[in-house]
Amino acid sequence: MFDAVADLVAGAIHFARLADALQVANGKLEQLSMIDGLTGIANRRHFDAELQRQWQQLGKARQPLALLMIDVDAFKALNDACGHLYGDECLRELASLCQRHAEARGLAARFGGEELVLLLPGKGVQAALASAEGLRAAVEQLARPHPASPVGPHLTVSVGVASRIPDPMQAPEQLLAEADRALYVAKAQGRNQVRLLRGA
Ligand code: GH3
Ligand code: MG
Ligand code: MG
Repeated sequence: MFDAVADLVAGAIHFARLADALQVANGKLEQLSMIDGLTGIANRRHFDAELQRQWQQLGKARQPLALLMIDVDAFKALNDACGHLYGDECLRELASLCQRHAEARGLAARFGGEELVLLLPGKGVQAALASAEGLRAAVEQLARPHPASPVGPHLTVSVGVASRIPDPMQAPEQLLAEADRALYVAKAQGRNQVRLLRGA
């Protein structure tokens, strides 16, 4: 009788430990599903969820939300000239620079390919432009060789900026589209520059 009770207690303890381990593993899986494998920063999935969340939250608080879309200049030519491994290394370095520019409340994420995004809650147009310019200059100062760039001898990025007080009744994708259009203009006007479309 005593043995049977002891076995039951041991079984229950074993089961509780298994349940704990499963919970920890689930938490780790959940975290991994939000991280980009190459750069270690947030992935597109995490970014989409955070954009939705910040859009609603800042819309209610009547505060601005800024979005920076960052694209490496002539990255295909860099891969062709120096190899994909060097390209990967540049992407990782750029990602950690973006992470540092995200500050406490922001989020840096890999949007896809060689495009990264920075979400900067609370930043109006002027503050967002200043952050974007700081990031652009910091990338240039890395002085990462780019022998095939039409811009100069080093790795550079172009940045499209958008900032507005969110309207919770509208979709946050409009902020993305606005930053994307500004990025297109930065590219068209020569690259290695920051653009924001006023009145967009
Ligand atoms: P632009 O200045 O107009 O942005 O020119 P670009 O060459 O940077 O743009 P394009 O869209 O023509 O090429 C993007 C390149 O990025 C092509 C693709 O092979 C490369 N790329 C995308 N993801 C990765 C990656 O994870 N690692 C590496 N090394 N290259 C990547
Ligand atoms: Mg691109
Ligand atoms: Mg590019």
